[in-house]
Amino acid sequence: MRVAIAGGGIAGLTSAIALAARGFAATLYERAPALEEVGAGIQLSPNAMAVLARLGVLPHLARATIEPDAIEIRDATRGARLGIVPLGPAARQRYGAPYCLIHRSDLQAGLATAARESEAINLHLGLTVGTVRAEDDCVSFDAGGTAQRADLLIAADGVRSAIRRDFFAYPGPQPVGRTAWRATLAAADVPPAIRRDITGLWLGPGGHLVHYPVRAGASLNVVVIANATGDTPPLKPFGREARVLIDAVSSWIPWPLFGVDASKSWTRGRVALIGDAAHAMPPTAAQGGAQAIEDSWALAAALASQPDDPAAALRAYQRARRGRVLRVVREAERNLAVYNMHGVAAAARNIVLGAMSPERLIGRLDWLYGWKPE
Ligand SMILES: Cc1cc2nc3c(=O)[nH]c(=O)nc-3n(C[C@H](O)[C@H](O)[C@H](O)COP(=O)(O)OP(=O)(O)OC[C@H]3O[C@@H](n4cnc5c(N)ncnc54)[C@H](O)[C@@H]3O)c2cc1C
Repeated sequence: MRVAIAGGGIAGLTSAIALAARGFAATLYERAPALEEVGAGIQLSPNAMAVLARLGVLPHLARATIEPDAIEIRDATRGARLGIVPLGPAARQRYGAPYCLIHRSDLQAGLATAARESEAINLHLGLTVGTVRAEDDCVSFDAGGTAQRADLLIAADGVRSAIRRDFFAYPGPQPVGRTAWRATLAAADVPPAIRRDITGLWLGPGGHLVHYPVRAGASLNVVVIANATGDTPPLKPFGREARVLIDAVSSWIPWPLFGVDASKSWTRGRVALIGDAAHAMPPTAAQGGAQAIEDSWALAAALASQPDDPAAALRAYQRARRGRVLRVVREAERNLAVYNMHGVAAAARNIVLGAMSPERLIGRLDWLYGWKPE
C-alpha cells in the first residue's frame, strides 16, 4: 500500500505517524522548505492528547507543554469573573488525559521528530502537490514537477486546500467575519495582574481575548478575535483590566479567519480530505487541530480494517468522523456568537455563566474532551 500525504501541518504529520503505527508506509510532501509554524500557541484538549499519547508522541512534546489549572472566563468590559472551567489534575482525572498548552513550532517539531524516527515515513520538504488525477487502480499527482502514483492520497493541505478546490471542485474557503490578532509575550513582559497559570477568556461585545502560557511557561500566547480588520486589534470591546494585556503587546500578527463547508463529501475515490482541508472552523472551541488529530487516528484505523479496498476505507473514515466534526463546528459557531454578544444578550449570558458551577461548566464539555481513540 503506497500512501501519499499532501501537507505537513498537524493533520499531515499526525496522519503519517498514525499510519506508520498501523504498519503502513507513508510519503509526505510539504511545500514549505522547512517545517515552521506561525509564532503562536495552541491548546490541546484531552481528546487530542489521548491520541498523541497512543501514538507515542508525548515524549517529544513533554518539555514544551504546560497544563493550565483552569479556563477563567471574564467579562472583557467590566473585568468581573464569570466562570471557571477546572482543568489541570481535574481534566486528567476526568478524561484520563491532560489539557495541554504548547507553542505551535514546538508541536510541529515534536511531530516531525516522531515522523523522522519512523522508517515507514518519508518526509519531502519543498515539494508542492498539484494536478491530482483518479486512475483506474491508483491516484496520480504531480509533486514538485515529478509525476507520482499512490494507492491513496490524503489531502492535508489546510484551509486553502488546492486539492479540495481543483480535484473535488469545491468552492474556496468562506470568511468567518472575524480577524484573529496573535502575539507572544515573554513571561517577564506580562503585566502582574494577568494570571500565567490559566487560560484566560475575556468576553466582550464584538470581540474577545484569549491568553495562555506556552513554552512551558516562558511565554504567554495572546489572541484577540474581533469583528474588525487592521494591523492592530480594536480596543472597544475591552475595559481597563483586559486592556492592560493588550497594551503590553507591541507587535501583532493579524490573521483573517476562514472556514470550509464540512458537510460536503471528504472523499472521492482514493483521495480523502483531512483536518482544515475537510472542516476548517472558527477557533472558538479550540478544536481545529484537535479534530485533525482525531481524524488522523480514525483514517489510519479505517485503512487497517480494510486495507484491500482503499476507497471503501476512506468512506468508512468519513462515516466515523462526520457527525462528531459537524457537532464540533456547531459548538465553535455557537461559542463565537455567545462570546461576542452585546447589551441585554451579553448581560443574560453573564448571569447564566455566573450561575454555573465549575463542575457544571466542565461537564458540558464531556462529549468533546471525553472522546477516546479506540
Ligand atoms: C487563531 C487560531 C487559534 C487556534 N487555536 C486552536 C487551538 O487552541 N486548538 C486547536 O486544536 N486548534 C486551534 N486552531 C485551529 C488549528 O490551528 C488548525 O485547525 C490546524 O492547524 C489545521 O491543521 P492542518 O494540518 O489541517 O492545516 P495546516 O496547519 O494549514 O497545514 C497545511 C500544510 O499543508 C501545506 N500545503 C498546502 N498546500 C500544499 C500542497 N499543494 N502541497 C504540499 N503541501 C501543501 C502547508 O504549507 C501547510 O504546512 C486555531 C486556529 C486559529 C486561526
